[in-house]
Amino acid sequence: MPGFEFFGDEERKEVNEVLETGILMRYGFDGPRKGIWKSKELETAVTQVFGCNHAQLTSSGTAALTTAMAALGVGVGDEVIMPAFTFVASFEAILSVGAVPVLVDIDETLTLDPAAVKAAITPKTKCVMPVHMCGSMADMDALQQICTDHNLILLEDACQSIGGTYKGKKLGTIGAAGTFSFDFVKTITCGEGGVVMTNDKDVYTKCDAYTDHGHDHLGVDRGADLHPFIGYNFRISELHAAVGLAQIKKLDTFLAIQRKNNKLLRSYLEQVPGIQFRSVPDEAGDSCSFLSWMLPTEAGTKAAIESLKEAGVFAGNFYWYANNWHYITKWDHLKNAITLNRLNDAQANALLGLQTQSFAKSDAIMSRTVSTAISLLWTEEQIKEKGEKMLAAITKAL
Ligand SMILES: *Cc1c(COP(=O)(O)O)cnc(C)c1O
Repeated sequence: MPGFEFFGDEERKEVNEVLETGILMRYGFDGPRKGIWKSKELETAVTQVFGCNHAQLTSSGTAALTTAMAALGVGVGDEVIMPAFTFVASFEAILSVGAVPVLVDIDETLTLDPAAVKAAITPKTKCVMPVHMCGSMADMDALQQICTDHNLILLEDACQSIGGTYKGKKLGTIGAAGTFSFDFVKTITCGEGGVVMTNDKDVYTKCDAYTDHGHDHLGVDRGADLHPFIGYNFRISELHAAVGLAQIKKLDTFLAIQRKNNKLLRSYLEQVPGIQFRSVPDEAGDSCSFLSWMLPTEAGTKAAIESLKEAGVFAGNFYWYANNWHYITKWDHLKNAITLNRLNDAQANALLGLQTQSFAKSDAIMSRTVSTAISLLWTEEQIKEKGEKMLAAITKAL
């Protein structure tokens, strides 16, 4: 997944162009910046590479989600349906706009289970937020149909699946809006950063102002801008955008390497008796940043993990169910509604309700799932050695 593995002269050149002028801010200073507009350039590149009409850069992926929800009119009194397996940013963003996160089960795609989404719809539901976890995608046809039938907004969190596609469309460009994160471990990195993508001009215009204190950006003098509504500062800096500009040009290379490395490693793991891989609604669109696999039982999976550790090949593998911060089992702060400032009552009640909500279907999947992160730097020899060692260690444990 990580673009940081390919940080080099291209990134340094882009950053140096900004350092030459010293104009680190994305707006204004038209004279001294000498024609250097890295953020604008990266936004244009995002629209071209991913095929969407508009792109608004932000300071992070979390800020991108918050911005998208605000621009889509999601707020107090609204419920947003999200998966129980995701990064914490999902519920952080929902809570930040005053809405209620409604957590539901995943299926073997490791993303939203369409049946669970349907069952969770109430008169307050406003938005469905699939999270395309670990490089691959949710069942978008099914989710889109549900949103159409129930008049709901579809917002894609594609932060972990940059470059993945579904039936020919780039993930993040299918819903009313979609987001990427460009944090340090994502497929393209800016150091920190994110983007909202949309085909809706009105949503984009709102994102543009919202991320810069509500400035309408209509005049030539930003200081004299009007403020049609209240916004925040979720701006990206020119230094960060410069890094992303170099990285986005390498995306095709990253994806080609990921796919090749993923396929080769998979050819070894496929030989494990009873192993299964996550189901991928459109195989051709898997960005292949991870290889996610499942063993028949939880006990077998735990034994396999111990065996991988003993063999010294567990590094780079993620057992989200117990060891990581991506699944409901580990979100005690969420389930206890622990915040610094007061939540609204609907939010607090919903969070406390998570303590008794069953996620049995997700547990049955997550307790058997391990995701292997695919490095861009592996040589073929290293993958073969890793593959052989992993195959032997897992098979021994079963
Ligand atoms: C990384 C990530 C985010 C948030 O991105 P930041 O840039 O770190 O704020 C959101 N959702 C998912 C699924 C992520 O992996």
